[in-house]
Amino acid sequence: MNHIPSKCPICGGKVEKGTTTFTADLKTGVVVVRNVPAFVCTQCGEDWIDNPVSIQLEAITDRARKQKTQLEMVSM
Ligand SMILES: [Zn+2]
Repeated sequence: MNHIPSKCPICGGKVEKGTTTFTADLKTGVVVVRNVPAFVCTQCGEDWIDNPVSIQLEAITDRARKQKTQLEMVSM
C-alpha cells in the first residue's frame, strides 16, 4: 500500500524525502516526535508519513496515553 503522492495534491509541488515533526494532542497530554522520516512537499510543506513509520508513532502515542505523560518529546 503506497499512499505517498509523487506530486503534491494541494499545490502541485514536488514531494521529496525529508523529515517532519509529529504532534498528537491526547486528552492526558501532548506527544511530540521530532525527526520523523516523511515525504515533504518542497513548496507548501505538506507532509506524508509512510505506514511503517505511522505504526511506530502510534506505539509512542499509545504508551504516552497509558502512562498519562503530560509531555512526551522524543526524536526518531
Ligand atoms: Zn504542496
